[in-house]
Amino acid sequence: MAQTRGANRKVLVLPGDGIGPEIMREVLRIVHFFDRRHIASFDISEDLVGGAAYDAHGTPLTEATLHEALSSDAVLFGSVGGPKWEKLPFELWPERGLLRLRKEMDLFANLRPAVVFDALADASSLKREIVAGLDLMIVRELTGGIYFGEPRGIETLSDGTRRGINTEVYSEEEIERVARVACELAKKRRGRVCEVDKANVMESGGLWREVAQRVRDSDYPDVELSFMYADNCAMQLVRNPKQFDVIVTSNLFGDILSDCAAMLTGSLGMLPSASLGPADASGRRKALYEPVHGSAPDIAGKDVANPLACILSFAMMLRYSFDMTEEADLVENAVRRALAAGARTNDLAAPDAAGISTRAMGDAVLREIEKAV
Ligand code: NAD
Repeated sequence: MAQTRGANRKVLVLPGDGIGPEIMREVLRIVHFFDRRHIASFDISEDLVGGAAYDAHGTPLTEATLHEALSSDAVLFGSVGGPKWEKLPFELWPERGLLRLRKEMDLFANLRPAVVFDALADASSLKREIVAGLDLMIVRELTGGIYFGEPRGIETLSDGTRRGINTEVYSEEEIERVARVACELAKKRRGRVCEVDKANVMESGGLWREVAQRVRDSDYPDVELSFMYADNCAMQLVRNPKQFDVIVTSNLFGDILSDCAAMLTGSLGMLPSASLGPADASGRRKALYEPVHGSAPDIAGKDVANPLACILSFAMMLRYSFDMTEEADLVENAVRRALAAGARTNDLAAPDAAGISTRAMGDAVLREIEKAV
């Protein structure tokens, strides 16, 4: 999964709409700091996507931008969308730009970490002792399963009533490649993968189990593999989430379970994500890193958005696209220390307390990075 240190690190930055440019600005300050202090350098290009691209070019993703994304080592994405573009025809919606990128880059593995920073453990809806120290990773299959399976649609039966159809379909190859991503991740973490399905009622779930076991036995003997039914997993995530290291699951179950796990951490403004494509001959994967939240039009342009989800997505890029573990730790620890020192944007602040600005949160993280190098 990793790329060679010192190789060209070509990164396409797509800030997008709403708060996207504000939060990405704070990431770029860290990038420039790394460059200035000879910690790491990147070959950065920046472009428009979403509503911003529509305004300039009449499409949410130009062919040139798509080409640039496909030839980059990683894409750093802000957020897209907003009321300004909601009256456009569906195919011109800002979100279509992101969906097209995901499809063309074949980003089949969606990585959603759920990490609870100690200073924020009280922001979770669960008790501190259940979530403090939580660090789990959900790997969701993103390009297959019931959201894409055929047959699909609504058909009218001979008696005039209608029937809705969606189909869960997974090939061995689709399961195998996402199971491999989960095992690779586990090797760099605590060595445990839990495969989640409904094998008790779905044949496709049985195939998931079989293929995951085969992948583990043939290539990852040191990884501990367990299985769990999706309904039980939902319960376990709120009962005892710290039992998990890496969870790997289908598109549908991953969609639901990753949102459930996200809420354990307290705030949408803290959640990063990565989406990975297949490895090429050199082991290099196409990859897109983005905060889980959207463009937050209600607070856009006010310098109050929390930039940490975007900064943590950058840290994931360092870790998973460039194998820069130390630098990724540096960024994540700086976030941890900035929070411990009391830095809080509005979304994290107590109801009666005023939060700091986007820029001030960026300053707080940069200060901690600077102290550590
Ligand atoms: P949203 O995530 O943008 O916002 C939900 C709530 O969380 C809002 O109150 C917002 O102010 C707050 N919030 C979000 N991120 C925050 C941050 N970093 N700091 C502080 N507060 C934050 O979701 P929404 O309101 O449902 O959607 C707004 C727009 O974003 C829509 O056009 C939607 O389609 C789009 N969207 C884009 C993406 C993406 O680009 N990947 C994802 C989800 C939604």
